[in-house]
Amino acid sequence: MAAPRRPDPAQLSLFVATEPTASTPMRPAPAAPATPGESTPAVGTSALASAAFRHPQAAREIVLGGHTVAYALKRVRRRSIGFIVGTEGLCVNVPSWVGPRDIETALREKANWILGKLHQQQERGRRLQSARVDWRDGVTIPFLGQTVVVVLDARAGITPSGAVLDAGAGDGAPRRLHTGLPSNATPEQIRDAVQSWLQRQAKRVFAERCEHYAAQLGVRYRQLSLSSAQTRWGSASADGSIRLSWRLIHFGLSTIDYVVAHELAHLREMNHSPRFWDVVRSVVPDYQRTREVLKTDVLPVFD
Ligand SMILES: [Zn+2]
Repeated sequence: MAAPRRPDPAQLSLFVATEPTASTPMRPAPAAPATPGESTPAVGTSALASAAFRHPQAAREIVLGGHTVAYALKRVRRRSIGFIVGTEGLCVNVPSWVGPRDIETALREKANWILGKLHQQQERGRRLQSARVDWRDGVTIPFLGQTVVVVLDARAGITPSGAVLDAGAGDGAPRRLHTGLPSNATPEQIRDAVQSWLQRQAKRVFAERCEHYAAQLGVRYRQLSLSSAQTRWGSASADGSIRLSWRLIHFGLSTIDYVVAHELAHLREMNHSPRFWDVVRSVVPDYQRTREVLKTDVLPVFD
């Protein structure tokens, strides 16, 4: 009921950074020359072959802490050197006037941070790879934080566009999602059937949670729509419309509740100020823990 405050910016997004960034302020180059090869592994110790991190658009390389890091270099209009580490590797954003020696100095200064992030992203890349769903009878997917087994069963009397989740045997075994597809269904057919079922569930659950939290926060939202975003879980617009990624339906309800409450809280505070977080905390007291889940969990990859 309360009139939402609507300062700028008009739209805020809940965005999970998959590419951590860091930057280092530019200082004049130190007088001392760089010490090349300071971390080159000793020749003859092949058993200690260093891991190589190679960005697909690598333009240069450097040895940091015994690891060869081949990085992409982007000339940008900014005042400092920026480092972006993603699953592809390291990309260095450099102001046009910065020379190779300054870049190397900056890389060595940030070596620990860069290597830490590279390892982290490599691990994340592996997990993403193994999260790729192999669409066949018996494949499992997370739904509301629980494992669900996909079952192909043309005799179940379910239309191909529908799917039905059973109640579970109550013995702790995962619930089964009966798709009504024949056993020779293609991976694409299985994916589409499961995806559209998940989207229907998302619509139902999100609408219900939005009602609940809108009442608690004393706000009104105009419209709820679904997106397919993989990293941008939700957004709220100043006109009162809420957008949520249907993929949130993979997470447990407490995670969904946090994102819903976060976006609705923006209808009171269109910013991420301490006041905004107070509003979130008033309805989701342990939101910090949930934020971590969103950052670290890897969801199934559907293509
Ligand atoms: Zn936000």
